[in-house]
Amino acid sequence: MSLPGTTAWSRFILWFSSELNRHLVLLPVCFSGREWFSRQTFYQWRQIFALRKMNIAPVTSLVISVVLATITGGPGAIAFPVPALLWCALSYTVLPLCLIVLIFNVAVMGIVEAGFLNFGQMYPHLGGIVSFRLGLSFLVLGPLTVTAIMTTQRALVDRLNQSITWDSLTKVLSRQAYLEQSQSFIESKRKKSALGIAVLMLDIDQFKRINDTYGHFVGDNTLEAVAKAISDILSDDQICGRLGGEEFAITISVERGEEATCLAEKIRLSVEKILIPVNGDTFIHMTVSIGVAFQLFTDDVKFRALLAQADVALYQAKANGRNRVALSSTVLEKQERPAVHLS
Ligand code: GH3
Ligand code: MG
Ligand code: MG
Repeated sequence: MSLPGTTAWSRFILWFSSELNRHLVLLPVCFSGREWFSRQTFYQWRQIFALRKMNIAPVTSLVISVVLATITGGPGAIAFPVPALLWCALSYTVLPLCLIVLIFNVAVMGIVEAGFLNFGQMYPHLGGIVSFRLGLSFLVLGPLTVTAIMTTQRALVDRLNQSITWDSLTKVLSRQAYLEQSQSFIESKRKKSALGIAVLMLDIDQFKRINDTYGHFVGDNTLEAVAKAISDILSDDQICGRLGGEEFAITISVERGEEATCLAEKIRLSVEKILIPVNGDTFIHMTVSIGVAFQLFTDDVKFRALLAQADVALYQAKANGRNRVALSSTVLEKQERPAVHLS
């Protein structure tokens, strides 16, 4: 009988299989834990584990598969937990998965050492011990690889979503995201029985002149400053996006058209106060024209129609001399229409 560790080769292969297993399960915990310790606030700790939202089905299936493997035994038992481990890898973030793999590894080691899980004539044969340790190491490599790939993929999808949703220069919503979010905003407000919706369309006056006189870099600064002024005024429940170039649009829930024109006036005045530094101690300032459209939910609000009305009103504001707010003629006509009394 060859007892483990009696020759140089057997000592080496025992050491190697043991070290490989230990490093494979401990190093991922250390590396992913570094990030964990660098985010020390309780809120961030909770975010990492997302305990409340954590789906316990994958980890439960892992426990069940280990119990089944222990009861069944035999050479194939070591592969029983593979599906559950892959499910865990697809469901959890890196640190919880690495901890699960570590605990799984220690538990299986313990179960085998205690003789509960028997692979046949494994102990005390060197080949059996080394084969088990290497097999377990390669088994845990699977979920660790999957979670690494999933993490990279999630990060890429997040970045992609960010760049689709937000305008990189002005940090307000991109055109597509603004149009989509406004549609769903209107639907949610309709369900909550809000009274009406207003759309404000805003265009910086003579912006081309700023670009032509001071260059596109100053033009970009101007766009950023205007977007910031708008965002500072709006509440979380009001949607703002950059439609393109120097045009922005805002969707808000209001009861009357006057509320929307008041907000537009507030934005116009705030933009008027912005000073953009150029060439050291010289400053430029800019103005905006704003078109406002409003509709009551009783009139069956159509977002695209509102946007078109706001656009027409914006043209009106430009034609009337810029740096002003114009309410859509559709709204004005409705306000002037005499009430019909049914006798
Ligand atoms: P109006 O008062 O009639 O709106 O005149 P305007 O000059 O503001 O309008 P116009 O449509 O003639 O010019 C818009 C300019 O906006 C032209 C374009 O070069 C510039 N522009 C569009 N996107 C950007 C951008 O991202 N950065 C900079 N710096 N300029 C941009
Ligand atoms: Mg303009
Ligand atoms: Mg324009």
